[in-house]
Amino acid sequence: MTLWNKADIHVHTRYSDGHSSVAQVLEYADHIGLHVIAITDHDTIAGALEARRMARGFDVEVIVGEEVSTADGHLLVLFLERALPPGQPAPKTIAAAHEQGAICIVAHPFDWLVSSFGAHLLRYCGGDNPAWPVDGVEVFNASLPLPGMNARAASVAAMLGLPACGGSDAHHFSTVGLGYTLFPGTTADDLRQAIIHGDVQAGGRSWAAGHYAAVASLRARRGLARAARAVTRPVRATGR
Ligand SMILES: [Zn+2]
Ligand SMILES: [Zn+2]
Repeated sequence: MTLWNKADIHVHTRYSDGHSSVAQVLEYADHIGLHVIAITDHDTIAGALEARRMARGFDVEVIVGEEVSTADGHLLVLFLERALPPGQPAPKTIAAAHEQGAICIVAHPFDWLVSSFGAHLLRYCGGDNPAWPVDGVEVFNASLPLPGMNARAASVAAMLGLPACGGSDAHHFSTVGLGYTLFPGTTADDLRQAIIHGDVQAGGRSWAAGHYAAVASLRARRGLARAARAVTRPVRATGR
């Protein structure tokens, strides 16, 4: 019998807007027994590449990922070797990802607070011959403030026959693993095969109030530090 395991496919670090270092994320994942995680910073794979190098010291396998800000909404791209540029139409990003053997998961499709696909664009992703051939949909995102956002994603993904994935959208190490994708097997490659064959399930629990408060206060502190640096820095002329 094949054992099922959990993978968190949606984790941010300080390389984008996360508040934890790569080492803190890896240490925590190892601590909670999560053996496969994808580092998916916004529009960069620098943190994911560092995590992959560092992972040798931990019992954690790292998938190099990127949450790409496409012109149509956020798209999680996993198993990348080269970063993909933001701002492109989603079909172009999906094609470029597949060209390098990566897979694409639509992130938080019904989060209307950030750029997301929504029902209209998800329709292009489903069916027998989809115009936007994604590999799955994030139907459980632990950071979403309203439970209806995940429920709607789950029902639309099921209707369209798209694999259902889950992730924490961690911006602090303490939320890593709260959302997860269940897959048969143990390795990142097992996860990849499971997503491609639609043999995955999403699960988890949402961030607690304390998690939102911690991230908000870290964000505010970071904003104040940035403002202080801007005040002390001499004004420089910028080109248009
Ligand atoms: Zn996002
Ligand atoms: Zn995210």
